[in-house]
Parts: sequence; C-alpha cells; structure tokens
Amino acid sequence: MNTDLHALGVPDALQHFPPTVAEVVSRLDRLHPATYARTRNALDGAVSGLSPYFTHGLVSLPQAAIRLARHHRLGYDDKLVFEFGWRAFFHHVWHHAGDGGDAILKAMKPVKLWSGRYSDTVPADVREGRSGVPAIDSAVRVLYATGYLHNHARMWLASYLVHIRKVHWRAGADWLYGHLLDGDLPSNHLSWQWVANQFSSKPYYFNAGNVAKFAPSSAWKAWASPKTAIDKPYEEIDAMARFRGDHGAEHGQHAAVAEPDCTAAPPEPLVAATVGAQRFSGTWPAPPAGSDPSLAVELVHPWALSERRHAGVRLGLVHLPAHTAWPWNGRRWQFVLQRMAEVCDTVFIGDATTLAGVLQGRPVFAQATRFPGYRQALAALTRDLRPAPRLFADPPMACGSFSRYYEAAQREQPDFQRLLVP
Ligand SMILES: Cc1cc2nc3c(=O)[nH]c(=O)nc-3n(C[C@H](O)[C@H](O)[C@H](O)COP(=O)(O)OP(=O)(O)OC[C@H]3O[C@@H](n4cnc5c(N)ncnc54)[C@H](O)[C@@H]3O)c2cc1C
Repeated sequence: MNTDLHALGVPDALQHFPPTVAEVVSRLDRLHPATYARTRNALDGAVSGLSPYFTHGLVSLPQAAIRLARHHRLGYDDKLVFEFGWRAFFHHVWHHAGDGGDAILKAMKPVKLWSGRYSDTVPADVREGRSGVPAIDSAVRVLYATGYLHNHARMWLASYLVHIRKVHWRAGADWLYGHLLDGDLPSNHLSWQWVANQFSSKPYYFNAGNVAKFAPSSAWKAWASPKTAIDKPYEEIDAMARFRGDHGAEHGQHAAVAEPDCTAAPPEPLVAATVGAQRFSGTWPAPPAGSDPSLAVELVHPWALSERRHAGVRLGLVHLPAHTAWPWNGRRWQFVLQRMAEVCDTVFIGDATTLAGVLQGRPVFAQATRFPGYRQALAALTRDLRPAPRLFADPPMACGSFSRYYEAAQREQPDFQRLLVP
C-alpha cells in the first residue's frame, strides 16, 4: 500500500533523502537557526532532515557548523547547536561505555518503573500500523515510507511502546533502528533508554493533548488521538506506566500497512544496480583509474561515507557478519550502497576479516567506529584507526548527563567561534 505522505502532513524535505553531498549542502543552506528554534517541536516545523547524512558520515558536525556559519552567527545558546550537542553527547557516552561501547545496549541505570515483565517483541498491531492510536499508526506509516521520523514522533512511539504497551526498550530500539535511514546506535538506543527512564532522571510521557499541539496543521486529523489510551491526564499515564500491564490495541478494525523486510545482507539485485562491476572480487584488482597504488588503502565503512580526501585506493566495506544482529531494510541498504559506490573505487561485501591477506604489506587506514562487528573487523585489518571529526571540545572524562557534557565542553572551549575554524 502506498502511503500518502502529504495526507500525513510530511513536509517535502522530509520525504526523500538522496545520498549525495549536493543534498547536504542544499539542506544546510536552507536551514535558519532562528526559524529552527521557533518551530522544531512541530512535526511540520523547519527541521533539517540532516540525520541520515550525519549518521553515514556524508557530513560531520564541524563541517555542518562551518557551512552554517557562512550565513549565521552561531553560539552554544543556539537551539540547533544544542541539538548537535545531543548527538555529540550520545557518541561521547558510547566512546566511554564498557565492552568496547556495547554497554549502551544494556540498561545504563538499574531502575525499573513497572514490576512486571516487559515484552521482548514489538506487537504486530504496532508493527502493522493498526494499534488504533492515530499518532502511532501514522508514525509507523511515515517511518516505513521515508526511513525518517520527526523527533517528537520518535518520542511518542517509544513512550507508547514502553509505558503503555509494556515492550522492553531494547526490543523497540532494535526494531526502530532497522527501519531508520539515520539509525545510529548511540542516538537511538540511548534515546530509548532516556524515554524508558534507564538513562534519565524521569520517564518521558506524552498524551493526546501533546499530540494535538505538535501534529502537522495540514493533517491534524491523521495524528490527533482522542478517545484512545493516551487521551488521559499525565497522572493517569504515569499510573498506567507504573502499575498496569499491556493496554493492548484499541478496539475495532484498523487498516494495516506492510512492514518492509529487514535483511542481514543487501538484496542481490540492489547490489547489481548500485555497486555493479565495482564489486571487489576477492583478489586485489588492477588499481582503479585515478588512484595511486603506492599510497595507503582507505577502508570506508558505512559510517564514514565522506567525500574523498585521499589520493590512494578507497575500499568500501560491508562487513556482513555485523548485520546478522543489525539488519537494515532495502531503503537503508540502497542509501549506503549507492553512496559507497560513488565515493569508493571498489566495494567489498562479505566477511571483511578475510581481506587480511589481500591487504598485507600495504599501508591501510580507516575512520574508527565502535559499531559491533565492524569495530573488531577494522582492528584486525589496521592499527591506523583515526577518530571521527568532532565539533565540541570533548571532555576527557565520561559525563553521565547531557547538561554536564555541554557545560564541560563550553568550559574546555568557551569561544564557540574557535570551533568553526576549518
Ligand atoms: C526514540 C528515539 C530514537 C532516536 N533515534 C535516532 C537515531 O537512530 N539516529 C539519530 O540520528 N537520531 C535519533 N534520535 C534523535 C532525533 O530524533 C533525531 O536526531 C532527529 O529527529 C533527526 O532529525 P533532523 O536531522 O531533522 O534533526 P534536527 O532537529 O534538524 O537536528 C539537527 C541534528 O541535531 C541532532 N539531533 C537533533 N535532535 C537530537 C536528539 N534528540 N538526540 C540526538 N541528536 C539530535 C541530529 O544529528 C540532527 O540531525 C532519536 C530520538 C528518539 C526520541
């Protein structure tokens, strides 16, 4: 079934996300920090839609801030910079988390709001967009049709699943991750924990009044959720969260939407259409046109799809063993493969650790990532792992809250303009 995104009030800019730097530049040049600050909470507000590009490294936070500074004077007080700070904070927490970063996949705080057992699966009615709560069913439709959701819709979905439907935050986070173009383990999994009260001082709740306030004005009816489980004052929502089991779907028949498949490997026709003859065949190919074989090989993984800055060979890596635990839907595979084919000379899809022999004797480097599976595979192939670009002066000690992180970053570098030096 085709979703009518205009009928759901989705702004044009949040419907399609071509994986190109031209798109990034156009989004940045249209972004107005003052308008952003005023409207960002509304589902049809002037948000950037930049998250898929940050997640996959087409642009970094410092590059974005430098570009914005051409037309706007930015400081720590700007709401947009503050939100950039949230992304940086989640990555800071990932960087300091135990088990090589994997600790963020478990509860950060041992609190339990409800004494019952949260479910390990997302109920079919929610996955199929037929819970009967319009705010939830519309969010699921937008997610499947675009790979993107506004921050408020993410918060509603997570809060509904955890507090009203009693789904374990980890099950919800894993499910959402697979369908997002911007799926980013620290931003996603720590946000779910924040909603669930596992990484915050209080749980996040919403109700029908909150939906009515922030729903798109042109499609208010598609989101407004009167006479549903969430149409209650906050004290009652709090009581549901703490004392009641799964509320279940609303009574009655509700139309279903098909959930896109998430797969542990990109579909072969998609590989043929995007990577085609650039696919790495197993033996080292003749040097790709324009590259210098005497220079180092850069390993380019899905979170480092930046423009080429290096004259040697760029080898794209899709390390399949990592995706068994973290499958993606076709839209995300397409985004990554299309971009990887564009910025790499050749693309390897398989078990990256088998490349050790092929790479032997050549200098090899890569941008570091803590992503499970890729982290270990890259470490097996090179010791030259370079940190991802940072905007903020990252405090050396782990900060347990965003406010501490942001204060510490400002203490380390009080003059924001100094961070904007290319
Ligand atoms: C349950 C839940 C899951 C989330 N999962 C992800 C995820 O997988 N990947 C992801 O990038 N973000 C995630 N977020 C954070 C946030 O919702 C998105 O970053 C934001 O909606 C992306 O849209 P945008 O680029 O238009 O944001 P804008 O509002 O235009 O903000 C600009 C940039 O600032 C950063 N940012 C803004 N808000 C936040 C925030 N609350 N937390 C962290 N960074 C933020 C993002 O990098 C974003 O691209 C999640 C939030 C929640 C509540």
